[in-house]
Amino acid sequence: MAGDNRIHDLDSYWMPFTPNRRFKAQPRTVVRAEGMYYYTADGRAVLDGVAGLWCSNAGHGRAPITEAIRSQAGEMDYAPSFNLGHPLAFEMASRVAALTPQGLDRIFFTNDGSEAVDTALKIALAYQRARGQGARTRLIGRERAYHGVGFGGISVGGIVRNRMYFGSLLTGVDHLPHTHDLARNAFSKGQPEHGADLADALERIVALHDASTIAAVIVEPVAGSTGVLIPPQGYLQRLRALCDKHDILLIFDEVITGFGRLGAAFAADRFGVRPDMITMAKALTNAAVPMGAVAVDRRIHDAMVEGSDTPIELFHGYTYSGHPLACAAGLATLDLYAAEGLFQRAAELEPYWQQAIHSLADARHVIDIRNLGLIGGIELEPRPGAPTARAMAVFERCFDLGLMVRVTGDIIALSPPLIIETSHIDQIVDTLRRVLAETD
Ligand code: PLP
Repeated sequence: MAGDNRIHDLDSYWMPFTPNRRFKAQPRTVVRAEGMYYYTADGRAVLDGVAGLWCSNAGHGRAPITEAIRSQAGEMDYAPSFNLGHPLAFEMASRVAALTPQGLDRIFFTNDGSEAVDTALKIALAYQRARGQGARTRLIGRERAYHGVGFGGISVGGIVRNRMYFGSLLTGVDHLPHTHDLARNAFSKGQPEHGADLADALERIVALHDASTIAAVIVEPVAGSTGVLIPPQGYLQRLRALCDKHDILLIFDEVITGFGRLGAAFAADRFGVRPDMITMAKALTNAAVPMGAVAVDRRIHDAMVEGSDTPIELFHGYTYSGHPLACAAGLATLDLYAAEGLFQRAAELEPYWQQAIHSLADARHVIDIRNLGLIGGIELEPRPGAPTARAMAVFERCFDLGLMVRVTGDIIALSPPLIIETSHIDQIVDTLRRVLAETD
């Protein structure tokens, strides 16, 4: 795979979340993407089992999106968004607002998921202060959560290595327990049965600190990056009820679950639970141009904007908030999702997907399989003394056999583009079965 003669210097690029030494000893690269496939420099097709990185929900190289970006680049490449507007940003905000649950219709643009998370946390704190509850400064995250890599996100996040190297992080953060329970829920189809009561840990945190000190709880409705942890039945409803009881804001981090991944626009719709803010990114633009956003409940927005005693109501924003190219890509993406009914398509494919990936239950090394919408997680027994090595070997072998999967720990995570056909699903399962059988 090192045979990509377009790359002359492997050293200068310090790659993110990558074992750089291992990668550079045996690089795997892709040079082109179209539909369900990536292509390597030597022309091999690689089926995309993860929508890039959970983000290209409409598949790759979609002409309407490419055209919209191209045309916008010719029209106006960039416009500042402080004290100045451009039409596409307003249009994009109202299109996003039309998709979010009712009332979550004030949209703040960022460039990615990490910024969306940090923005939401800052809005939560500033809102509490604006409504005269300035003592509510504590933020509650969850074990095994991934909320990006900003200091806010890693503070409420729950991945030890994403936190331990980076100092004292934000103070005043507590964590709910994660919901992963192999002993009781292994091989659950859809939402697992046991664990709604884990939400009650919020009561203990409230008992410890008092609700009057807590600003917000943030959770991924389905935890993606730590290995596809599906919320137990009733868990999110219980968390919502407890937040209501204690007047605490609930933030859903939908950077992965947004835009049809679970067969509905947002996980909030799928689960029938309305948070106070939703963070999103990735599939917002089909990943063609970086963009993130926070959808904010109108009452939060109004309390801050109407009640502000300074001309600028929120001292926060990015040079590239509402970037014209991102808005152009986003508008074309939302049109494409609607025109092709992709959220509905994901819902329709879910039973086939579920049955297909659970058919790997008897494959070698597999200790759990879980699924929801078009997400799947396959957990492997780790090699003794070498956690993550087995999954990494599976990832590399799959790639060489023409399938791209994502691995995290010893878990294979799947989240294909929503344009996937059943024949592709069969290919994913057949390749994985073969690779698992061959891998020690
Ligand atoms: N939040 C969640 C739930 C994510 O899954 C991710 C990325 O995978 C992020 C935030 C961070 O997004 P980004 O990498 O765009 O900063």
